[in-house]
Amino acid sequence: MEISYDIYVEKIDRSYIRYIRYAVQWSVFLFLIYAGYKFYLFVEYFSASDISSVNAESILLSRPPSVEGFLPIGALMSFKLWISEGIFDRIHPAGLVIFLAAILMALILKKGFCGWICPVGALSDIIWKLGRKISGRNFRIHRYADYTLRSLKYILMLFFIYVIVVKMPPSAILQFLEGDYYKIADVKMLYFFTEMTKVTFITLLILFLLSIFYKNFWCRYLCPYGALLGLISLCSPLKITRNEDACIHCEKCTDNCPSLLPVEKKNRIRSPECTGCLTCVSHCPSRGALDIALPRKITLKPLIFAVMIVTLFFGTIGIGKIAGKWKSAVTYEEYKRIIPQAKLLEHP
Ligand code: SF4
Ligand code: SF4
Repeated sequence: MEISYDIYVEKIDRSYIRYIRYAVQWSVFLFLIYAGYKFYLFVEYFSASDISSVNAESILLSRPPSVEGFLPIGALMSFKLWISEGIFDRIHPAGLVIFLAAILMALILKKGFCGWICPVGALSDIIWKLGRKISGRNFRIHRYADYTLRSLKYILMLFFIYVIVVKMPPSAILQFLEGDYYKIADVKMLYFFTEMTKVTFITLLILFLLSIFYKNFWCRYLCPYGALLGLISLCSPLKITRNEDACIHCEKCTDNCPSLLPVEKKNRIRSPECTGCLTCVSHCPSRGALDIALPRKITLKPLIFAVMIVTLFFGTIGIGKIAGKWKSAVTYEEYKRIIPQAKLLEHP
């Protein structure tokens, strides 16, 4: 039954916020495709058997440091080393800067990194929407199976925290970070996709198929990075906040939440699954019913939240660049020596 609310509420259209989020997310995604292509050319250059004596400086400059964002485990090691010894990773500093930006965002702006920046989130988003177009709906895993599956990402997160933060001494981390394997960990990551094994291909295919039918399958059940950011985001003072007096219980917020949260049933969303994507807010038709807010219902304009997301993320990267913590210290000679043997190099 269609709810008629014209005479009860002041209608509002905040769909613009969705388009701003798509614009941010897809700009980052497209930029990373471009960066990935440049990095591919960089690796191709060093993989060639007859490297000509071109300008080493310009080749090194062509390597986009942003690809280090795909090395979150290395970033966790670097983070521990930085906190415990004050040593900032000089091999993949951009990876640590991006990691710090994501943590800072989680502390202040919910899991904003997942909702607004992460390219995997952007891809997941488009895949489940494609699934909904094909089958007319997305499926939901049974409540108990959902709880069990969701714990997987926390188990993976705890595993990495135990192995790296608890067990690995800083001296061992430093030794690993300065070793040949870590120096070309980004190259290994590239080969993971460009020279896929059968197992990798089948695993990615299964994930793709599951993501078609279930919203954000990877993010919801398996991503340990998202699990960590989700737990940190519990500290964020900003939460999606519903005002019962203005709410008309149309359930548009619940129906559209990509994290399957029961927004319409809660006054304040405290879940670590909330990505701060503001999809619920953008769909809410009643002025004053749903907002992103500080405690005591001090609301923030969605546009201000979006600006804060972009400023915090790119501002942290900017500070990293100014502080000289963005470009890798790996030299031309080292790349020339290590990349040709990258495929044979095993984890120490
Ligand atoms: S808070 Fe949710 S249920 Fe209430 S009016 Fe807004 S979209 Fe509808
Ligand atoms: S509650 Fe709102 S902001 Fe949080 S994940 Fe759901 S739609 Fe996004």
